[in-house]
Amino acid sequence: MDKKEILHLLKEAPIESLLESANTILEKTKGNHVHIRGLIEFSNICSRNCLYCGLRAQNKDIKRYSLTQDNILDAAGAAINAGCDTIVLQSGEVSGAPQWLGEVVREIKNNFHLPITLSVGERKRQDYEYWRDCGADRYLVKHETADPILYEKLHPGFSLNDRINCLKILKELGYEIGDGFMVGLPGQTLESLADDIYLTMQLGADMCGVGPFIPQKNTPLANYANGSPDLVLRIIAILRLALPNANLPATTALATLDPALGQKNGLLAGANVLMPSFTPAEYAENYIIYDNKNRVAVKEAKEVIESCGRTHPLG
Ligand code: SAH
Ligand code: SF4
Repeated sequence: MDKKEILHLLKEAPIESLLESANTILEKTKGNHVHIRGLIEFSNICSRNCLYCGLRAQNKDIKRYSLTQDNILDAAGAAINAGCDTIVLQSGEVSGAPQWLGEVVREIKNNFHLPITLSVGERKRQDYEYWRDCGADRYLVKHETADPILYEKLHPGFSLNDRINCLKILKELGYEIGDGFMVGLPGQTLESLADDIYLTMQLGADMCGVGPFIPQKNTPLANYANGSPDLVLRIIAILRLALPNANLPATTALATLDPALGQKNGLLAGANVLMPSFTPAEYAENYIIYDNKNRVAVKEAKEVIESCGRTHPLG
């Protein structure tokens, strides 16, 4: 699939036939099963200032927290007891020594013998290497937008190239890489979304999380409109055609804009992963990446999957 074809699918392809093709491929590559990643948002402390995100360092109107290693292990145990098949450890980006998180990864790995995903932003190759040696298997760092000028506007002082480089290094180190981008960012065009899909293909992403941009009131983008859930669904379907074997989550952001049907529609568009949160509630309420964040718990995840006639590992 080249950029022209992608743009055609984005602009003109009838949605029904796109969804039908995506489902045919999904059945062949992934079957009926939906994977469950247990998400632990272990700290909302962040040194960066991404214009769209409520965790940005300049936001003083947020209570910062960091779970202890024991808190994280307890949350991981709860996720695994519930039936999750991977743990995802996510936080804001900080530049501290990698050992603390490495110890957590090692403990979870030794206790539970499951794949572990990290999502803690841009780091040096040595840190990625160290965490891999501690037992991390997958890494999620979305390129966010493939438009280099928009990228620099949204991430003052940082470059798209550096972000892409992280994904390349992670791939070289043997990680399964999780890419992704937001839909409906101010200034984003359909042409640039075609570039997002194309870049994800070029990087050979094993996973790709696509969600609508949702404004957060304490950020410079507070007054912009959210991204279109329908466009996100179309993009999930195109990604299923572009990357037949990739793991595609129906993101929490979809469930935030449409609590009743967001994630169900994501699964029906070709997604095969849900990521319920196992962050203890008293902390999760301060993980305010965007406003009105829907907390997708195990019970809802089960209901959504079963309502699509699909299977899951949840007890
Ligand atoms: N700090 C790490 C991981 C946490 S942020 C990192 O930035 O990689 C996780 C994801 O939340 C980001 O990749 C971004 O795509 C998403 N996000 C942040 N703010 C958002 C917003 N306002 N609307 C939708 N998604 C957002
Ligand atoms: Fe920090 Fe990630 Fe939010 Fe950027 S998107 S401000 S790096 S938590």
